[in-house]
Amino acid sequence: MNGDGIPRRGLMLVLSSPSGAGKTTISRLLLEADPGLTLSVSVTTRPKRPDEVDRRDYSFLDSAAFEKMRAAGDLLEHAKVFGNDYGTPRAPVEKALAEGLDVLFDIDWQGARQLKGKAPKDVVSIFVLPPSTGELHARLRRRAQDSDDVVAQRMKRAPDEIAHWNEFDYVVVNRDIQESVASVRSILTAERLRRQRQVGLPVFVKGLSEGL
Ligand code: 5GP
Repeated sequence: MNGDGIPRRGLMLVLSSPSGAGKTTISRLLLEADPGLTLSVSVTTRPKRPDEVDRRDYSFLDSAAFEKMRAAGDLLEHAKVFGNDYGTPRAPVEKALAEGLDVLFDIDWQGARQLKGKAPKDVVSIFVLPPSTGELHARLRRRAQDSDDVVAQRMKRAPDEIAHWNEFDYVVVNRDIQESVASVRSILTAERLRRQRQVGLPVFVKGLSEGL
């Protein structure tokens, strides 16, 4: 539903970025500000970080459990990132969309590409860039949850990730977190108002014409 009660088709909002560009913080603030948006919680074989909560940030699985989900077709998309497996469980996404919610995905470019291939009309993709390489490095170090090796590995991968910027519908340079959140919210507002997504418009407009 729109704010004005017209039935609307849910959308899939994909946020991607190199690790450390601020995407996770943007996602958290977006979710706090928008009750119509729900997060797709991924499954991963990566070890849990100290401040992460199982099934809130990720569902942490071993390789066998991940492979079982993949083989059963229970993942909408999946990819290997930094040597670990990540995937999007299908059922919660389908349930949320059916309930009229929009779904937010914090996934990499490989996942974004797969989702866009499967649901081109429903996916809106945003790429978040850091303002500079120096800032990206500083943010990764500030996170202080990963070992120096992991930080170095993530810095090394950043150019490969950034190389995919031009596959996305929108690009936001994250200079200021509040500004970036405001930009993403504007995108979401506009995309929700797309005529094709407002599937209740014919009935609404018919009512208007009849009332004239
Ligand atoms: P991190 O280990 O820092 O949480 O995530 C590493 C990268 O994997 C990030 O770019 C994140 O967006 C991506 N990622 C997280 N979950 C998924 C997923 O389900 N699918 C894909 N393709 N990428 C994911």
